[in-house]
Amino acid sequence: MKLGILGGTFNPIHFGHLRAAEETRDKAGLDKVVFVPSGNPPLKTADTIDASHRYIMTKLATDSNVDFVVSDVELRQEEKSYTVNTIQRLREIYPEDELFFILGVDAFMDMPNWWLPDVLMSMVDFILVTRPGFDMADVAKSPYIEDGQRAGEDFLRLVSGKKVIPVQVTPMDISSTEIRRLLREGLSIKYLLPEPVERYIYGHDLYRQ
Ligand code: ATP
Ligand code: MG
Repeated sequence: MKLGILGGTFNPIHFGHLRAAEETRDKAGLDKVVFVPSGNPPLKTADTIDASHRYIMTKLATDSNVDFVVSDVELRQEEKSYTVNTIQRLREIYPEDELFFILGVDAFMDMPNWWLPDVLMSMVDFILVTRPGFDMADVAKSPYIEDGQRAGEDFLRLVSGKKVIPVQVTPMDISSTEIRRLLREGLSIKYLLPEPVERYIYGHDLYRQ
């Protein structure tokens, strides 16, 4: 099977994540998308809530889609979660499957700040999804992308030899940052994320500080 791995803080998960995952599954011919909520992210912000809440919300949001799976690999470990370790663990969990790491243009551009980006980029092929406010053209200029791409190919080649497959998804200008801001200010978050997630947030009084 072809599995897309969508890592994220999911603080909280929203329709931007869900629609990007669904369209990527269709357009890249993936069998399933595995959502991986981060456990103890090294680059987390002060308003990153407990991993167990973020995991439960990701479960609630994906429950109605048989092609979506939520993994707790990053939650089961005490140490900080680094994507290179996560990919390694997922390979052990899914030894028969072909893995693709899905990420938005913003996340790709941030990768030099991650732990061992060169190792990560030599481990797996990537699917790069469009995101409003971020330019796909910047990716081609990244030092991790090989110079002089071969004509006629519908993917970019990384210096490591792995592929970066661009996928255009319906632009949805939604971010968790904006949802957290709305909650802090007591404003509505309706229609930005699934209702069960909305109910969970209010039920547990999350993001009000
Ligand atoms: P925050 O604002 O807290 O950073 P976020 O909305 O960016 O939250 P993340 O959990 O950081 O969400 O993102 C996880 C992955 O999903 C990243 O690869 C990111 O690029 C992608 N993603 C998030 N929101 C969208 C969106 N609206 N459209 C496309 N991709 C998205
Ligand atoms: Mg983000």
